[in-house]
Amino acid sequence: MMKYGVAVIGAGPAGIIAAGRAAQCGARVALIEKNAQLGRKLLLTGKGRCNITQAEYDMSRFVAAFGKNGKFLYYALNRFGVEDTVKFFQQRGLAIKLERGNRLFPASGLAMDVLHILTEFLSETGVRILKNNTVKRLVKNERQIKSIKLSSTELTADKYIVCTGGLSYPTTGSAGDGFLWAESLGHKLIQHQPALVPLIIKEKWVKELQGLSLKNVNISVYQNNKKQTERFGEALFTHQGMSGPIILDMSKTIGKLLKQPVELRIDFKPALEYKQLDDRIRRDIQENRCKMFKNSLDRLLPQKLIPIIIRLSGIEPDKKTGNLTKKERKRLLQLLKQFTLHIKKLDSFEKAVITAGGIPLKEINPQTMRSRIIDNLYFAGEIIDLDGPTGGYNLQLCWSTGYLAGESAAYCK
Ligand SMILES: Cc1cc2nc3c(=O)[nH]c(=O)nc-3n(C[C@H](O)[C@H](O)[C@H](O)COP(=O)(O)OP(=O)(O)OC[C@H]3O[C@@H](n4cnc5c(N)ncnc54)[C@H](O)[C@@H]3O)c2cc1C
Repeated sequence: MMKYGVAVIGAGPAGIIAAGRAAQCGARVALIEKNAQLGRKLLLTGKGRCNITQAEYDMSRFVAAFGKNGKFLYYALNRFGVEDTVKFFQQRGLAIKLERGNRLFPASGLAMDVLHILTEFLSETGVRILKNNTVKRLVKNERQIKSIKLSSTELTADKYIVCTGGLSYPTTGSAGDGFLWAESLGHKLIQHQPALVPLIIKEKWVKELQGLSLKNVNISVYQNNKKQTERFGEALFTHQGMSGPIILDMSKTIGKLLKQPVELRIDFKPALEYKQLDDRIRRDIQENRCKMFKNSLDRLLPQKLIPIIIRLSGIEPDKKTGNLTKKERKRLLQLLKQFTLHIKKLDSFEKAVITAGGIPLKEINPQTMRSRIIDNLYFAGEIIDLDGPTGGYNLQLCWSTGYLAGESAAYCK
């Protein structure tokens, strides 16, 4: 049976950093990956460009983005924070550029370049990589993992780090195996659900808007006529509903509300108050008195949206704009400020950027990432019950928790 100091399961961003760091600290390390290729999901990140991290150097603001549980990350960020991540890649020759929303990307625009540097880190530190190897089971003896069963062999180590990710984009290899093992070892999982996930909308006609991208809109989430949350920014219509940064960022909150009906209300003109927009519509009407209603909206709205707005307004499309009644004008105003859609459900794990839930934070020591249930077991990355917004937060979680888990596993008795 092969024997190691540290065995890391899962070669995503968390597992790669954990393995390299443990080896840097002197451990004999094996990194086990079921795929033939390392970091398959990493290659998809940022639409193939990899938003490596978020240029938020203020730690309290960084952790606040993860909600009330974010403070769990203080120790990990202290060991390996945003600045360390940037240095790690730059020192290995990766030029990094800052984009809108404090997002940091490789200047080349290629996630492959990030993966290349991580792979070099593994060979530089002497990590033994076991690709095409699926871990089937962790064998326990009281409060210790004794060995792990792979497809065709067994492996033993002093310490084990589980970095198998969540359940999102399962075709990349992240199929939730780590959750099952953790549960069988005595961890009480926080129910997982897709997060940073598109929405499926009840109104079938959203299909006609597929591909329409909205900039500078405000979208509010309502339940029982009460606003629950809102965001300003970019969104996108898909063939079944809505996606885009502000939708993804609200999806977790929406998921929790969905036991009862939930509405989205889109304000297409958030820079204008009702009265200002009404004045503008009246001005447009004055200037276009003789135009048909259906031909009078192109200064107000994107082309794709016009037929839908006309239909929902109930206004006769061929009616002369000058003949619109006050009631019709108000209806148009309402559609521009509160375009309402009803949410059917969240899209599936197949489309979710991240998995919320997982190993409860109270069952992991934040100073070491060690399990509080099994003495020689550590967790890092998406498998733990923490998820951040879009913008590089989730990869930073992997770099920070992976690094800390790697060095703790190598050093801790
Ligand atoms: C489309 C998309 C775009 C994204 N873009 C960004 C972005 O730009 N910036 C950002 O911060 N975050 C982004 N994310 C989120 C980010 O990719 C994840 O947070 C991150 O990949 C999680 O890393 P991980 O190492 O925890 O797990 P994963 O990356 O999921 O890696 C887990 C690994 O474990 C392996 N594994 C699983 N089970 C076994 C087993 N039984 N035996 C052996 N190996 C196993 C898997 O094959 C996999 O390689 C994106 C996610 C998606 C889906």
